[in-house]
Amino acid sequence: MKRRAVFLPMRNCPHRCIYCDQRAITGEYQPPSPHEVVTMLSTLLEPVELCYFGGSFTCQPERLQEEYLAAIVAAPSGSSVRFSTHPLCISRDTVERLKKFPISMVELGISSLDDHVLSLCNRGYSEKDGLKALKLLLDQGFSVAAQMMVGLPTQNLKSSLEDLFKLAELKGPRSITLRFYPCLVLRNTMLENLLLSGQYTPLSVSEAAHWVGTLLYYAKNLGFSVQRVGLQQTESLERSVSAGPHHPSFGELAKSVAFVLRLTGISSKGPWIIFQKDVSLLTGHNCWGLSFLSEMTGQSPEKLKAQIVIWENTN
Ligand code: SF4
Repeated sequence: MKRRAVFLPMRNCPHRCIYCDQRAITGEYQPPSPHEVVTMLSTLLEPVELCYFGGSFTCQPERLQEEYLAAIVAAPSGSSVRFSTHPLCISRDTVERLKKFPISMVELGISSLDDHVLSLCNRGYSEKDGLKALKLLLDQGFSVAAQMMVGLPTQNLKSSLEDLFKLAELKGPRSITLRFYPCLVLRNTMLENLLLSGQYTPLSVSEAAHWVGTLLYYAKNLGFSVQRVGLQQTESLERSVSAGPHHPSFGELAKSVAFVLRLTGISSKGPWIIFQKDVSLLTGHNCWGLSFLSEMTGQSPEKLKAQIVIWENTN
């Protein structure tokens, strides 16, 4: 189903997170009113997933939330709504109200579940709040996505993996979708001040890709589905990034790392049989994946090539 994104930059966020400036990412854009959303949807011929992103949707006054949600009736039958929100604004009452609408997914900003990291980032919620919000939604049958981040102040791979295992425990046999974002330093944010005063060092592209690649590897093993890695490239994002692991193919780099971890999990030295469609995960971006495989196995890239059998899909 096609998506129609409506950005509500930092709408009703209970706190200003130190790394965030959604307005810089969305540029001069003026968010539409519910009435304007209705007008836009009524021109469509096919069902869509209407997505309210960029703010804390359920922190808005109840009436406004309901007007934005009810706008979906103007879209062709079968359309649904997805939105992102802050864990503090998911209560029993909120969840009950949401049941009246065709919600396809609730995306929660669970950038970390480490209370120290959360407090440094001014996220305004604790591990307990985050897990409680997720549980409330899952228990009532909502599809949920957790937006996780890497490279936040004092965060490390160990704490990210711990977050992932906490989410896996809460999830059980149910499904949670994950989105992974590397922490970028945007201009005019508190994080930029920390960077300029030497109190924060951003990850390099390689560090962040290895970190997210490791999370991807474990996420797959733990039964999560992953919907996005890295931020969408826009001109305004390009202009607002002052430092950090910003790379147009960040997702591909991270997926290559996860792929190599999978290969070395199957066999520490090879040989490996891989599908044709996965070859670029080793050879793309100047053989980034192959170099990592070489580092992991202690074998030269040339020697490794002889250990890889490509399964040609002839269908
Ligand atoms: S990160 Fe999310 S909750 Fe924090 S200020 Fe930005 S949009 Fe609001």
